Amino acid sequence: MSLIGLMRGQAVAIHNGIIVQVADEKDVLDDHRLQSTTQILDVGGRLVTPGLIDAHTHFIFAGQRADEFEEKIRGVSYLEIAARGGGIKRTVRDTTATSANDLIKLGRQRLDRYLEMGVTTVEVKSGYGLSLEHELRMLKIAQTLNEIHPVDVVSTLLAAHEIPEKMSKEEYLRLVVDTIIPRVAELNLADFCDVFCERGVFSIEESELILNKGLEYGLVPKIHADQIHNTGASRLGVKVGAVSVDHADHIDQAGIQQLAESNTVAVLLPGCNFFMGLDSRAPARSMIDQGVAVALATDFNPGSCMTQNIQLIMTMGCVQFRMTPAEVLTAVTTNAAHAIGRAHDRGRIQCGFQADMTVFDVNDIRELVYHFGALHTWKTIKHGLVCWERTQ
Ligand SMILES: [Zn+2]
Repeated sequence: MSLIGLMRGQAVAIHNGIIVQVADEKDVLDDHRLQSTTQILDVGGRLVTPGLIDAHTHFIFAGQRADEFEEKIRGVSYLEIAARGGGIKRTVRDTTATSANDLIKLGRQRLDRYLEMGVTTVEVKSGYGLSLEHELRMLKIAQTLNEIHPVDVVSTLLAAHEIPEKMSKEEYLRLVVDTIIPRVAELNLADFCDVFCERGVFSIEESELILNKGLEYGLVPKIHADQIHNTGASRLGVKVGAVSVDHADHIDQAGIQQLAESNTVAVLLPGCNFFMGLDSRAPARSMIDQGVAVALATDFNPGSCMTQNIQLIMTMGCVQFRMTPAEVLTAVTTNAAHAIGRAHDRGRIQCGFQADMTVFDVNDIRELVYHFGALHTWKTIKHGLVCWERTQ
């Protein structure tokens, strides 16, 4: 993860949104493929990275929970808030009560902000619907956003996010397995099937049932694993061939070992622990040292991590996880691409890859994470086009 191939004095040639040449600036400019219609973008020696990828988000939602944030600061527990209908259930009510057009509008604004953050591909999960109708609606909104906005949106079915208010867990589990998964697959609305495997939510056995059913229908598994307790969910992720296990704050040594020997990426979400004021953190350093492929993402959602600032998450990766700036960059580019099944065409500045690149107003990669909280994006390039640029 530390070998990022950083080079100076390079230029990138792009044709039809695809990278066709990466070489010394002089060679690219002298190249016979340059024509009078060629546009040249001089970035003035600034740092250029692959477009950042946010591989774990819940960015399609309505309403917000700033009042719960204050209550938590004052010492009210998450369980108390949940018991009176707050938390995820409240966002489910707000989201299902909002029109598709308004959700698309909110989604579009958030994707605009992602461009500002230097992000060119975002994963999004359903899970604020918790019924056939509303899970399908969320995924259709994600599909629409993918079509109308430059940022690529990759969809994950997370019907198993919570248990809806008026159903028993057994009833809902049957609905997810017998109806929602087959319908989502039939309509081709998601690439992945995810589950919130945690005490009091979905058990290991239930999660395995859901993920295997998804697999049967061509939905690749992902799993919210070992976030609050060690349940063995990371090991389940490896067992079912998940593309990623996410959170992993309480992963055990056996889980780390199995991840290291697998193709499964660990998507770590330090913003979540920061925002919830938790001292626990994933053993990222040990995971990387043992050979686990680690990605970092925001987990952007209105309850446990209300930020889209992946550049801030990168600094958290350095400070809280002792990851080097180079490792952090790998974690939000090529490893993030692996975590959403897109490593074949993005996450690297390489011939044949999508021309998704972020130009930062720094000369040294370390400045990107060192000067934290600031937004360093200078231009965001998607499919070869400048889609966002700093105006001052
Ligand atoms: Zn999540």
